[in-house]
Amino acid sequence: MINLISKSLAVPETLFQLSSLKNRLHPSNSNLASVYSDIEKREAGHKGEKIAEYYVRLIDSEQINIFHGLRLRTPKGHFFQIDLLLVSPQFHILFEVKYQRGNLQLNPQTKEYTQELNGEVKKIANPFEQSNLHAYLLKLWLDARGVQEVPIYHYIVNAHPQSFFTINPSDLKIASHFISPKGIVQEYSKVHKSTQFKSALNNSQMNNLTNQLIENHEELYLNIFSNYSIKKTEIQRGLICVYCGSFHVEKKGNQFKCHECKRNSSLSGRNGLKDQYLIFRKELTPTSVQEFLDLDTRYQAYRLLESNYEKKIIRQGKAFYIPKL
Ligand SMILES: [Zn+2]
Repeated sequence: MINLISKSLAVPETLFQLSSLKNRLHPSNSNLASVYSDIEKREAGHKGEKIAEYYVRLIDSEQINIFHGLRLRTPKGHFFQIDLLLVSPQFHILFEVKYQRGNLQLNPQTKEYTQELNGEVKKIANPFEQSNLHAYLLKLWLDARGVQEVPIYHYIVNAHPQSFFTINPSDLKIASHFISPKGIVQEYSKVHKSTQFKSALNNSQMNNLTNQLIENHEELYLNIFSNYSIKKTEIQRGLICVYCGSFHVEKKGNQFKCHECKRNSSLSGRNGLKDQYLIFRKELTPTSVQEFLDLDTRYQAYRLLESNYEKKIIRQGKAFYIPKL
């Protein structure tokens, strides 16, 4: 057996939310550009994490547990997300994973981090400060649970193949935290060697810690409306044709017929349920679905929900559904 993936890499929920939102905003909506740009950023982030995942899986050790995208809450209630975490009996390593293009420059004195791309220079979040902060917050989190203390190391991995990174003025200590995805295995080996005779968590402590990390993960969901200052009335209702994107789809019996391209697809209904759930983040009811998808009858909405739900909750005699995503 090699290393253990305790929490595997998944497409973030926020990307599904944004994709549903994009489908439902009118092409002339003033928020559309920032929705597209956020989708691009999150897709890039996920791409970087996929590259890092490939390399972290090359580590040949039975002793580490790997967690992708853990989002934890500090004892004071602040959330922090760790892109990639390796938990071992002697140490933990946290990787802040980026997918940033262009010329990246860190000034360790002013703490300014800039990205130069297509002749334009802009200031972006300093990843060294981020990883430092995450290591600190992870320590607080572990301390609050009485987990035996082992050293926490942190690195920044930029997975973009066309990027150049400089630290100016030079600072070797800070520079050693910036690595490429290929460097993940090497840094792991270095840390492993330097800590192998140090005190360590026993098997039961390791299992306990792994369970606690999994149980305390809280997935991030966007509040679409406050995030983009979008009004509920700006979300276009109705069924969307999966072939041509038109809203002129009609449900007849079990069929969804598009009046623009004349094609049929049963997916229009299922996608509509997904959009509604992902955008509003509320359990669905036949009444709300009938209204959102502009269906002729509540019974149509009921049938659609009955054939596409993942979870059904009965509360005071009423059914609430979470659709299959
Ligand atoms: Zn169509």
